[in-house]
Amino acid sequence: MNDNIYDVLIIGAGPAGLTAAIYTSRELHKTVVLEKAVAGGLPATTHLIENYPGFPEAIAGNELMERIKAQALRFGTELSEFSEVKSLVKEEGIFKTDIGTRIYESKTVIIASGSAPKVLGIEGEERLRGRGVSYCGICDGPFFAGMDVAIIGGGNSGLQEGEFLLKFVKSLTFVEYLPYMPASKILQKRLHDTGKVRFIVNHEVASIDGDDFVESITIKPRTRHESQKIDVAGVFIYAGFVPNSAFVEGLAQLDKAGYILTDERMQTSTPGLFAAGDIRSKQIRQITGATSDGTLAGIFAGAAIEGH
Ligand SMILES: Cc1cc2nc3c(=O)[nH]c(=O)nc-3n(C[C@H](O)[C@H](O)[C@H](O)COP(=O)(O)OP(=O)(O)OC[C@H]3O[C@@H](n4cnc5c(N)ncnc54)[C@H](O)[C@@H]3O)c2cc1C
Repeated sequence: MNDNIYDVLIIGAGPAGLTAAIYTSRELHKTVVLEKAVAGGLPATTHLIENYPGFPEAIAGNELMERIKAQALRFGTELSEFSEVKSLVKEEGIFKTDIGTRIYESKTVIIASGSAPKVLGIEGEERLRGRGVSYCGICDGPFFAGMDVAIIGGGNSGLQEGEFLLKFVKSLTFVEYLPYMPASKILQKRLHDTGKVRFIVNHEVASIDGDDFVESITIKPRTRHESQKIDVAGVFIYAGFVPNSAFVEGLAQLDKAGYILTDERMQTSTPGLFAAGDIRSKQIRQITGATSDGTLAGIFAGAAIEGH
C-alpha cells in the first residue's frame, strides 16, 4: 500500500480534532490534522475559560489550546494550517481530499470542523461588517474603547463575550429575541452588577444603521410595530451557529440542521468516517464534550485501522 496514506486524517484543529490527534498519534497511527485557519478552534478566540476542569483560576482560551496542540505535536501529529477541506470522497476503501496544493489520502477520517457564527441577514449587517459589525469580541473588542456597543443574542456566548467587552466599552445593550435571557443566571448577575449593562428582551433588530460605520441599531418589539433607535458604535452578533459540514454532504448522514449523525463510538453512516465535537448532532456543545468526543473518535478510528 502507498506509504503516503495516513492512518487518520482529522479535519479541524479545535479541541475535538486535537484531542483525537493526541489519542491516535500516541498509538503511533500516522496522523495529520488539516486546519483551514490557525489551530485552536473557537476557544482560541474566547477570553477566559472558567469551566474546563483542572484550571480553578480559569485559563485563557488561546493558552488552553496552545497546550492541547503541543500535546498532540509531541506525539508526532502532523499539523497543516491554512488547509481547508472543500470536498471529501471515499474510493476503494480510502478517503481522499484535494485541498488545492496537495491531495491527502487516509484510511480513516475524523471530522471535527465545528460550526461558524450565524449571519442574521439583518439590513446593514453585511454592508457594515468590519465597520462596526463583528462576530468576535476577543478579536475586535479593543477597537470599541469608551464607546456604546450592542450585542445581539442573550445566550451564554453573548454574555461571555460581553463580559470581555466590558473591559473596553462604555456601555453594553443586549437585544434578545426571546421573552427572557437564555444565558446562565450567574453570568447575567455578574454583568448586571457592573451597572454598565442593559438587557432588552422580546425585541428584534430591524436594521443596523450608519453610512460608513455603525451609528445605531433599530429595534422593535416582536408583537408591535413601533420601532426605536439606539445609538451604538458597534454591534456584536451571537445568534447561534451553522455547522461546517457542507464538504461531507452525501458521504455522511446529517440531521435537519446539517449536523453529523454518529453512534456512541462517533462512527458516522460511512465506515471509517468519524465525527467529533460541535459538528456532531447533539444538544450541548462545550469544550469538555468536544474533548470527550475526540477521545472516542481517536480510539475507535484506531480500532478501525487495525481491522482495515
Ligand atoms: C463565544 C464562545 C464562548 C465559549 N465559551 C466556552 C466556555 O467557556 N467553555 C466551554 O466549555 N465551551 C465554550 N464554548 C463552546 C466551545 O468553544 C465549543 O464547544 C468547542 O470549541 C467545540 O470544539 P470543536 O473542536 O468541536 O470545534 P471548534 O472549536 O469550532 O473547532 C473547529 C475547527 O475546525 C476548523 N474547520 C472548519 N471547517 C474546516 C474545513 N472545511 N477544513 C479545515 N478546517 C476546518 C475551524 O477553523 C476550527 O479551527 C464557547 C463558544 C463560543 C462561541
